[in-house]
Amino acid sequence: MDLSLPLAKLKWIQKRYLKRLKKLKIETVKDLLFHFPHRYEDFSQILKISQIKINQTFCIKGKVIKIENIKTHKKGIILTQALVSDESGSIKAIWFNQPFLKNLIKKDTYVLLAGKLTIGKNESYLQNPVYEKIKNPDIQPFDPRLTHVGRIVPVYPETEGLTSRWLRFAIKRILKKHLASIKEPLPEFILKKYNLLPIKEAILQIHFPSSFKLAQKAKERFAFQDLLILQLFVLGQRIKRYKEKSAPIPIKIEVVKKFVESLPFKLTQAQRKAAWQILKDMERKIPMSRLLQGDVGSGKTVVATISALNCAKNGYQVAFMAPTEILAKQHFETVHNFLKNFNLNIGLLTSKSDRLFSKKLKNEVVEISKRKLIELTEKGEIDILIGTHALIQDKVKFKKLGLVIVDEQHRFGVEQRAKLCKQSKTKERLIPHLLSMTATPIPRTLSLTIYGDLDISILDEMPRGKRKVNTIIVSPKERQKAYQLIEKEIQKGRQAFVICPRIEPGEKGEVRAVKEEYTKLKEQIFPNFEIEMLHGKLSSKEKERIMKDFREGKINILVSTSVIEVGIDIPNATVMIVEGAERFGLAQLHQFRGRIGRGGEESYFFLFCESSSRKTQKRLKALVETDDGLKLAEADLKLRGPGDFVGKRQWGIPDLSMEYLSDLNLVKTTREAAKEILEQDIYLKKYPLLKKELEKFTGLVHLE
Ligand code: ADP
Ligand code: MG
Repeated sequence: MDLSLPLAKLKWIQKRYLKRLKKLKIETVKDLLFHFPHRYEDFSQILKISQIKINQTFCIKGKVIKIENIKTHKKGIILTQALVSDESGSIKAIWFNQPFLKNLIKKDTYVLLAGKLTIGKNESYLQNPVYEKIKNPDIQPFDPRLTHVGRIVPVYPETEGLTSRWLRFAIKRILKKHLASIKEPLPEFILKKYNLLPIKEAILQIHFPSSFKLAQKAKERFAFQDLLILQLFVLGQRIKRYKEKSAPIPIKIEVVKKFVESLPFKLTQAQRKAAWQILKDMERKIPMSRLLQGDVGSGKTVVATISALNCAKNGYQVAFMAPTEILAKQHFETVHNFLKNFNLNIGLLTSKSDRLFSKKLKNEVVEISKRKLIELTEKGEIDILIGTHALIQDKVKFKKLGLVIVDEQHRFGVEQRAKLCKQSKTKERLIPHLLSMTATPIPRTLSLTIYGDLDISILDEMPRGKRKVNTIIVSPKERQKAYQLIEKEIQKGRQAFVICPRIEPGEKGEVRAVKEEYTKLKEQIFPNFEIEMLHGKLSSKEKERIMKDFREGKINILVSTSVIEVGIDIPNATVMIVEGAERFGLAQLHQFRGRIGRGGEESYFFLFCESSSRKTQKRLKALVETDDGLKLAEADLKLRGPGDFVGKRQWGIPDLSMEYLSDLNLVKTTREAAKEILEQDIYLKKYPLLKKELEKFTGLVHLE
């Protein structure tokens, strides 16, 4: 039997169910078999009616003495009332609006009922109990004939008109017919070594477990399989990369030394080490894939600049991508400033802006057209091209691209990089080296899974020393106090940020939230201060002007969306308010916090929080208690899942296994197992089913 058989081919499934199943993305026999329960109900204890206690879920077995439908006084509600008895006593069961039950559960037949006792005015009864008809009154718990009661019962993700009851019935029917045709994708030696349930057993146990322990074991087996495939993918990426070629970029030690000496500050030990790791990596023919991780303010840009300089001085071009225009502009200015005595051409290319700059010799910034800049890049005359997404447009071609630097957000695979150097004049298809940068610490489990294809350098030293930022959770009542403090700070000459939650990029609500806050602050709260707002819908000219004015201190308070200013460096800003703080991840809030106090002044980070739920309060408290970004990231991973880290990368990992991404043990074992498999058989020739699963997975991953 073919598991890819569409459910539409099964006559016993009605059309309307097919539609509902489709809503849950269930279209084939296999989809249905792999629709796993998200929890279980324990109806495995069959009690005597006389043993029933309040507040306890239980299951009873008895004979139907009476069953009837009753119309209530309340409009249209029909009650089905049954009296069920066993040798110890009898009990009433009531169902609402299911009159058909009267014909289903007939007088003098036997049923199992499960639920909780409801205490009514005059009597106790079972309200809407789960029922199952039985032929043989001697039936025991866990009898394979039982589906909805008398066992550990699966509860599935449902949709309207598609209940767990229906799903249990359908899955059971499918299991009977198709279980035998499921084949084991995992190698035998892996099953043995890691003591995993074979697939058939696991499928059976995950749906209709004979114990909670086995249900758990089944769940773990599938998590193992999903993570194993992820690991095979990630390690495969690495192997693939090792087969690609890059231009080896020798270290020009004199140039690097000269650069380091030209800096107005001394590099931290961590910066030196990271820079060295990067330079060493780039000396090899293997394309570098390195992630530079360092908290906000740890000084990643200068490290990136060292690698860019060394690359450019070897005659290779550098593409430096930033997530937003403002940041691209800031990087352009920073890099341009750092490199002013190094005779390099540096360009700035963004999508919206039509004013473009190129740094020609003699430390001069000139404006040229976009067309011209692209032309110069193609000719190889621009050494370092800085910009936004615009850099990866088809129009932009490099002559000799040696290094791609990606600041925040974007993660590149080998293919994306290869695309960037279509124009490369060299005969061999050389892949540029890649340096990505992020301020989000990577929990260990993730560096061993979804980031497993990258090498990581960490900047764990803050050049300007510890900042003094007070983190304060503000309830709606205390708003006024927070505003008073802002007033004081601004009167001292400091500046403030107000961040409003982004709802969805490009959504109207995002702008409106900023606009509302802006109007409120400007008209009601701080009429005497200069306030401006910043959001994605402004023209780039306008954005530039606002950032410039803010940096120069002409603006006291900047109201902004969250996405825009992640990397902005304003040393004079000492206050930040985050509106709707509960909507952000801890790691992200920690990043916002890194925007203030950069000048070393005592600073204030206010979390305005509309929700008073204890969970939210507890989550935000973590920010008050620790300044350790890694700890916060780990907490985020546990509380919110890996979504914040996975970013735009789409991984075809089922939710069930997502939660295992924070299980260090499983992560380590699956990595081990993946290595063992690949060492034996790199192309998975011996394991065609596993290979098929991997290919399916690879098809679902979008690395951007
Ligand atoms: P981030 O890691 O957040 O991108 P930046 O690269 O923007 O940090 O650096 C933050 C600020 O610290 C910049 O103004 C930069 O010039 C400065 N900086 C970087 N390294 C050092 C250092 N070793 N000593 C002093 N200041 C430094
Ligand atoms: Mg930065």
